Amino acid sequence: MKELSNDLLEELVTECRPYSREGQVVKDIPGQRTIDQNKLGVCIINMDNEVFSAGDTDMKFSLQSASKIISLMMALDDFGKEEVFQNVGMEPMGDFYNSISHLEAHDVTKPFNPMVNAGAIAVAAMIKGKDVDEKFNRVLKTLRKIMNNNSIKLNDEVYESEQLKGDRNRSLAFFMKSTGAIAHDIDETLDLYFRINSIDVHTTDLAKLGVFFANGSRSLKTGEQIIPMDHINTIEAIMMTSGMYNEAGKYAVDVGFPVKSGVSGCIIGSVPGRYGIGIIGPSINEKGNSTAGGALLHRISRNLELNVFSVIRKDKE
Ligand code: GLN
Repeated sequence: MKELSNDLLEELVTECRPYSREGQVVKDIPGQRTIDQNKLGVCIINMDNEVFSAGDTDMKFSLQSASKIISLMMALDDFGKEEVFQNVGMEPMGDFYNSISHLEAHDVTKPFNPMVNAGAIAVAAMIKGKDVDEKFNRVLKTLRKIMNNNSIKLNDEVYESEQLKGDRNRSLAFFMKSTGAIAHDIDETLDLYFRINSIDVHTTDLAKLGVFFANGSRSLKTGEQIIPMDHINTIEAIMMTSGMYNEAGKYAVDVGFPVKSGVSGCIIGSVPGRYGIGIIGPSINEKGNSTAGGALLHRISRNLELNVFSVIRKDKE
């Protein structure tokens, strides 16, 4: 096992940059049109709140689907596990993140899981607040607290473009309304979904969220239990089975801890009891996952021996 250091991360980032050529940057996300495809950055925070990083960590990016774990956290906190999973399933879908066909073919009463678009829209419908502004501000406030960063905010241009190119998500939402899977106001639900996708962060912010999960949703700084630990266990289990969509199985095998991606090329990872990880590598594959970021996660897991299954067995030796 190697020891975590900036030098090790630097070495792994250099090794993994070439994988960017295997994917493409999503050019229609504002700010990404002229981005260098080879960018790759990582930040890891351990339980002593020590920060390790390498590569392009100065890059800002929108959360996109990494925000799905945040919506789920809010909904679980607002309604509890039982009620949330009456409205959304917890099974892996094994298809593209914005698949429509599964909504009709599988179970019209609820989408597959909270990590795919349909499921995340159904989850957004459950976040409490008197209107979209209040709901969104609750999300922002919680994130700022967890990430210990008051400058976390909405990227207006990304939000505008999410609305402009949001017809696929509208289709999912209106279909769910037609079957009764969503009973809430659809325009408001979509508006909230688009906003949460459009929050800008850096890899450090993702690592802070990851380490907060890794610490059982207690603040590393104050020890305050911000969200009940049981909710985080639920979210991490669903990240493990569905966080990387139809590559989740491969990630469970190769990486072996909970991870969640976004089409901006970000990945958040949480190694229970050990680390929070934030990665950005804007070049993604057809499944929506960062190619260089995925390669980097694989190497980080191998070098630091982070696969949770092998860790459990090692403890018994
Ligand atoms: N904003 C994108 C959408 O809703 C996010 C998709 C993703 O990151 N996989 O389709």
